[in-house]
Amino acid sequence: SYMLGIETSCDDTGIAIVDTTGRVHANVLESQQKFHTRYGGIIPPRAQDLHRARIAAAYERCLEQAQLQPEQLAGIAVTTHPGLPLSLIVGLRFARHLARRHRKPMLPVHHMEAHALQARMEHPTEISYPYLCLLISGGHSQLAMVNGPGRLTLLGETLDDAPGEAFDKIARRLRLYVLPQYRLWNGGRAIEHAARDAKNPTAFEFPLPLAQQRNCNFSFAGIKNNSFRAIRKQEREERTPPDGIISNYRDFCAGLLNAVSRHLMHRTQRALEYCLERQLFGAAPPTLVISGGVANNDAIFENLKHLASAYNCRCYRPSKLYCSDNGVMIAWHGIEQLLQDPKQSLRLDIDKIDVAGSAGFQQSMIAD
Ligand code: ATP
Ligand code: FE
Repeated sequence: SYMLGIETSCDDTGIAIVDTTGRVHANVLESQQKFHTRYGGIIPPRAQDLHRARIAAAYERCLEQAQLQPEQLAGIAVTTHPGLPLSLIVGLRFARHLARRHRKPMLPVHHMEAHALQARMEHPTEISYPYLCLLISGGHSQLAMVNGPGRLTLLGETLDDAPGEAFDKIARRLRLYVLPQYRLWNGGRAIEHAARDAKNPTAFEFPLPLAQQRNCNFSFAGIKNNSFRAIRKQEREERTPPDGIISNYRDFCAGLLNAVSRHLMHRTQRALEYCLERQLFGAAPPTLVISGGVANNDAIFENLKHLASAYNCRCYRPSKLYCSDNGVMIAWHGIEQLLQDPKQSLRLDIDKIDVAGSAGFQQSMIAD
C-alpha cells in the first residue's frame, strides 16, 4: 500500500509517497532557504506564509510524479511535533482536509522519530529493532535506543545548543556566505566543504565539552562561544573589514569540525558501552544509526563508523537525500506505524490529532 507523508515542521515543505516495500514513488521538497538566509535565521510567520502558498501545488505534483489517485492511498502521515507551531499547523490542517475529503486515516508523526527510522527504509534487512541512534540536526542532539515507532528510549541529549544550530550560527558569524559558492548553503555543509581545503587543520583547537562526565549528554554552547572568540581575535589581528572573512577560515572550519566530531564520538562511545554492558541490543547485532541533517557530514559519519567498528557494531545512515528534512521520512514512519499495528490508525479521530506540545520521547534512561 501507498502512504502520503507531509512535512512542514520548519522551513521545508516536503510531500512524498512511499510504499510498504520502501519504494519512493514521489518526493517533492520545497526549501525556503533562500528566503530566510538573508535575515540570519528563520522567521516563523514568513515560513508559515511560504508553506501555505506552496503546499497544495506540492501535493498535486506529488500525485502526478507517482501517477496515483488519492483513492489509492492507505493513509496520510503528517508531522505533528516537534517543530515551529506556525509551520506545523499548515501541514496538519492540509492533512486533515485530505483525510476528510478522501476518507483516509491520518497518522501523526514525531519528527525526530521519523529521522531515527528513515535508515530502515533503505536498509530493511540490516537494521532491525532495537538499535542505537544518534540524532544530530538543526534542533536536536540525542542518543536513543530505538525499539519501534513510538518506542524510543532517550539515553542523553544536549544541555544547550544542537550541533547543526551551532554550525549555522558559527558559519554566519564567520561570514562564510560572502563566498559566492556558499551563499545558498546551510552552515554545516559550508563548514564541511571549507574544512576539506585546510592547510593547517590543527591551527584552531577546542577543549572537549563535558570531558569529566560519563553520561550521554551533549553541549555545543562552549564550542560555539570559543568559536566566536577565536574569530573575533583573528579579525582584530588581521583587521578584517566588517563585511570580510578571516584569511585562514578553512583552518578554522577544520578545527571546529574536529571538535564537534570528537565530542559526538566521546558520547556515542559511552552510549555503545552502556548498551553493550546491559545487553540492550538483545539478540540483534549491535547497530548504530546516525541521522538528522548533520549526518550528511562525511567526516563525522566516517569517524563514528570507525568508532562503532571497534565495538563490532555496524553503522548506517540514510542516504544524503533523506538525512535532512523531507516528506519521505514522514511517509516511511506512517508505513512503520501501519506495519506495527494496521488497525491503530483507523481508530484515531482526525479532529483529536493536533500539534503536540511536548517534544520528548516517551521514556528516558540516564546512561551513566
Ligand atoms: P530538527 O530535526 O532537530 O527539528 P531541522 O529539522 O531543522 O532540526 P535537519 O533538516 O534535520 O534539521 O538538519 C538541518 C541541519 O543540518 C542544519 O543545521 C545544517 O547546518 C545541518 N547540516 C546539513 N548538512 C550538513 C553537513 N554536511 N555537515 C554538517 N551539518 C550539516
Ligand atoms: Fe529535522
